Amino acid sequence: MRTIGVLTSGGDAPGMNAAIRAVVRTGIDHGLKVMGIHRGYSGLINGEIFEMDRRSVSDIIHKGGTILKTARCEEFTTDAGREKAVNVLKVFGIDGLVVIGGDGSFRGAQALSKLGVAAVGIPGTIDNDLAYTQYTVGFDTALNTVLDAINKIRDTSSSHERISIIEVMGRNCGDIALYTGIAGGAEKVIIPEKGYDLNELCRIIIEGKIRGKLHNLILLAEGVGGANELASKVENVTGIETRSTILGHIQRGGSPSAFDRILASTMGARAVELLIEGKSSRVVGVQGGKISDMDIDEALSMKHEFNEYLYNLSRVLSY
Ligand code: ADP
Repeated sequence: MRTIGVLTSGGDAPGMNAAIRAVVRTGIDHGLKVMGIHRGYSGLINGEIFEMDRRSVSDIIHKGGTILKTARCEEFTTDAGREKAVNVLKVFGIDGLVVIGGDGSFRGAQALSKLGVAAVGIPGTIDNDLAYTQYTVGFDTALNTVLDAINKIRDTSSSHERISIIEVMGRNCGDIALYTGIAGGAEKVIIPEKGYDLNELCRIIIEGKIRGKLHNLILLAEGVGGANELASKVENVTGIETRSTILGHIQRGGSPSAFDRILASTMGARAVELLIEGKSSRVVGVQGGKISDMDIDEALSMKHEFNEYLYNLSRVLSY
């Protein structure tokens, strides 16, 4: 292994820059040439590739987003597109590739592996929807962003004795809603893994009001449905003023938390080590609190299991 490439792909996540920095500096430390690839697989196909040195990743550890930019690339999902990508890697002399992204980006890395490319994945997504790893880079920062919003909404919700429905991201994974529901003391967490019953939800709200609750904070994962629609249904049934807040893309930005910076730094370093050790077609993750790695096929075949214990706890603690 002499030259490696690094790209970020799919939805961006805070901490991607810290991961890029770790890949570049660890790679150089091991005597490798490190090439940055702009705009994910799209930039790979188009040859948007340049050499990175230690200074090229100066002053980025605290920045959200990704200095390499990210993209979604339709062409790469075709055989012809992927063959082009393999040829470009050959032309630039890249023997190993680090892909920082989510599930879709990993499927891309898997496809490249099947074509003989030594690829290693670093999980970069706020959704925490990759089953093989306890944490993905960006998840912790997103939790803190949502928590900050919940704290603010709680103030105004209490003053007006309103119901507040807060819609958070996560695609089909309820982890952001579940973890922030626990951390923010929400009355109810609604996640795709469990769904909800409108009558039961309204009963919880009405009973809470009778017991003297000043507000009702409901964390809704985007994969279940829209907050606006739910708010009008809840208001109709309970007769209590209900406001919806869709947090949207603020969850994807911002300076990464200490946890995400450390996670990204260690994962970046491990990804490079794996390539040097000749262990490709692997993804880096966290298992049992430790940095681990797994075969990409095995990792992608796992089904994400949500934390039933935390879900039940959120119900007990909200009472
Ligand atoms: P994320 O990585 O955040 O899940 P996407 O699902 O949008 O984001 O995937 C990012 C990119 O990865 C896509 O635009 C596409 O180029 C590539 N990709 C996604 N799925 C596949 C697949 N099954 N095979 C090959 N490439 C894929």
